Amino acid sequence: RPPVLTIDGPGGAGKGTISRLAAERLGWHYLDSGALYRLLGLSAVEQNIPVDDEAALCDLALALQIRFGAGHDESVYLEEREVSRLIRSEQAGTMASKVAALPGVRAALLDRQRRFRQEPGLVADGRDMGTVVFNDAAHKIFLTASAEERAERRYKQLIAKGIDAKIGDLLADIQARDERDSQRAVAPLRPADDAVVIDTTALSIEQVIEKVMDICKV
Ligand code: C5P
Repeated sequence: RPPVLTIDGPGGAGKGTISRLAAERLGWHYLDSGALYRLLGLSAVEQNIPVDDEAALCDLALALQIRFGAGHDESVYLEEREVSRLIRSEQAGTMASKVAALPGVRAALLDRQRRFRQEPGLVADGRDMGTVVFNDAAHKIFLTASAEERAERRYKQLIAKGIDAKIGDLLADIQARDERDSQRAVAPLRPADDAVVIDTTALSIEQVIEKVMDICKV
């Protein structure tokens, strides 16, 4: 089966940037699993499905029509509508983490995620890539950073995209999301037993990617 590199960790630890770069250097496919939960959250809001209607959310998770741009194209499509910016809002992130706490929703998204495992390999970015979805992955990494550093990175990211944000609000959102992601009953956020943990707080992107590529060599 095609090899998998899993990169898990809390929001803002640099998973997206590092995973995309790693996929590019390895020439492997890339799965942004957080985008699936964000798309589901967005779709639920648009269809007026309450976050506690697990059955309806499972149906929606199975039926969702999703498409990702290829290579450098970071576009995300929901029912052929370009929603890349929409799903990056803090509100969509919060919705995502609420629907992600439902066991049925996580189960409904399993196959969809596993279908990304194709030759010559896959870099899978998320919270439970190494613990659940690709628990047989050859290489597992857990990226983390202090909450303050993550809030600051997200702030810069949003501003660069022309999205308005307040750093205090971002920090509060990150802490609330960490809490929800690590306390939930199914697939709580934690490093896989066989994952290498990298604290990126004081590291540059280049330093992190070097460590990641080293890990993939073994
Ligand atoms: O990584 P991102 O911030 O886009 O993820 C949004 C939310 O989706 C996370 O806060 C988490 O609750 C959920 N998620 C998850 N499992 C994943 C990826 C994301 O539960 N594999």
